[in-house]
Amino acid sequence: MALPVSRVLSSSQLAMLRRHGEEREAAAGETLYEIGDESYPFIAIVEGEAVIIDGAGKEVVRHGTAGFLGEMNLLSGQTVFVTAVVTEPMRYIAVDREVLRRLLFEDGALSDLLLSAFIERRELLQQRQGVGIEIIGPHESEETRRLLAFARRQRLPHSWLVPDEDEEAAALIAALDPAEIPLVRLPGGDELRRPSDGQLSRALGIGLELEQREEVDLLIVGGGPAGLGAAVYGASEGLDTLLVEGTGLGGQAGNSRRIENYLGFPAGISGTELTSRAVTQARKFGARTASPYHAEALELGADRHVVRLDEGNEIAARAVLLATGAEYRRLPVADLDSYEGISVFYAAGPPEAQVCGGQRVGVIGGGNSAAQAAIWLARGGALVTLLHRRADLAETMSHYLIDDLERYGVAVRDRSEVSALHGEDGRLDAVTLTDGEQVPLSFLFLFLGASPCTEWLGDVVARDSNGFVLTGPEAGAEGLLETSAPGVYAAGDVRAGSIKRCATAVGEGATVVRFVHERLAPAPVR
Ligand SMILES: Cc1cc2nc3c(=O)[nH]c(=O)nc-3n(C[C@H](O)[C@H](O)[C@H](O)COP(=O)(O)OP(=O)(O)OC[C@H]3O[C@@H](n4cnc5c(N)ncnc54)[C@H](O)[C@@H]3O)c2cc1C
Repeated sequence: MALPVSRVLSSSQLAMLRRHGEEREAAAGETLYEIGDESYPFIAIVEGEAVIIDGAGKEVVRHGTAGFLGEMNLLSGQTVFVTAVVTEPMRYIAVDREVLRRLLFEDGALSDLLLSAFIERRELLQQRQGVGIEIIGPHESEETRRLLAFARRQRLPHSWLVPDEDEEAAALIAALDPAEIPLVRLPGGDELRRPSDGQLSRALGIGLELEQREEVDLLIVGGGPAGLGAAVYGASEGLDTLLVEGTGLGGQAGNSRRIENYLGFPAGISGTELTSRAVTQARKFGARTASPYHAEALELGADRHVVRLDEGNEIAARAVLLATGAEYRRLPVADLDSYEGISVFYAAGPPEAQVCGGQRVGVIGGGNSAAQAAIWLARGGALVTLLHRRADLAETMSHYLIDDLERYGVAVRDRSEVSALHGEDGRLDAVTLTDGEQVPLSFLFLFLGASPCTEWLGDVVARDSNGFVLTGPEAGAEGLLETSAPGVYAAGDVRAGSIKRCATAVGEGATVVRFVHERLAPAPVR
């Protein structure tokens, strides 16, 4: 596996950091920070060398003169996942997290260097066994799969220990009640028994622990491209901005293997990377992001609207942006849930591509996301059939993707719908189509479109017959992206009539900030 790249600071960058940090010395063998520490400063090495070590004591990388120590948790505030030990006597500059954040805001070149290194280092840590949290639970445990999915979405470095395959893991959970499984071991050794997503997050120091009541200028509900777009523009333009996200920051885009049509990335960019960069950028500007916190109710007020969260917190905001996107549609067949997460999936990432190599795989859906998944899986060595219900893919799919399907040998079946699944213990053997034909398939990926995440809104804002939030003239509102409730806006996939794309979601999120400014600006004196 590739090791993290050791980048270097220029002499003028070191001089600038010296003005904002504290120069210190450390002897060989000294520990600079270790796994489980709550935080650590950014460390720029003036002279000497340090080694980064993982939880198993293995060397990850060494950083020498003009190198620097730190990764994403310097910005996110997460618990420390690795240990740093001095290998050659060091002189270094320690810069406090908050000071570093300010410098990143002010210094474009430093920001480019550090942010790309932090993101790259985090992605490499995620791929490494023995770094981060350990989730101990069996394959068939739904709660184990929930936590694994959460760790993946949160880009948490993690390892999964399966009791059937690992004696130590079996011993660890042998004495536990089934209701206490999975067991999660945190960096530093603390243990949690079947934690909720929120409990795990807070134990790791991820994001914010919100006060019982918070007051902000702009509350953004939903951390996909629309919400993140608004967070970047809101915070950079001086609004006190809080974003709450119910699952993991990044939204649907964060699950996309490769986004080929986002402006500025001619070679494409993975959804994880695009949204990690956006989260980092939003935090750099001072936006606060809190996840997982699920919004459960919106109450309108004259001066401030209140959003109530699942853990009992209330957020009073002068303006609220609804950016809750939409959720994947499920297949209307019996026993679907017993296959989900084992052989039926809603996103195709590296772990799925790995298990699908050399297997018969079905991808269901006629949209671009289905095509992208089918191509990704075929390139990973799977024998892929794409099933969709219309007569011609060109009605719903971009042309370049139809060409790619052919290029990568994906078989396409028009007018095909699945009516039953066959298999045992969640392992799929075949599906039956509505015309009665049985097709042998070991894995199924569903890309059936989405329903808006708006049930929690009740009738507080006007929605269309499918539940999407109405804005502008259709909602009787003055502003283009304003809902039927003044001061409540909607952007991205959740908005009726929006173009369901990353770039449009980001653009709408950014546009809302302008309307919020107009609303909050004091009326001109006459
Ligand atoms: C697999 C896949 C591939 C795609 N590929 C492309 C592509 O190549 N190019 C492209 O332009 N577009 C692509 N798209 C579409 C694009 O990802 C979406 O249009 C975009 O993510 C919409 O952004 P959003 O912020 O409006 O909503 P989402 O991305 O859906 O984000 C909404 C967020 O709100 C959160 N949320 C929901 N309810 C609540 C609540 N009550 N409280 C708190 N949080 C809540 C959700 O957890 C979610 O994180 C793809 C989509 C998928 C699924």
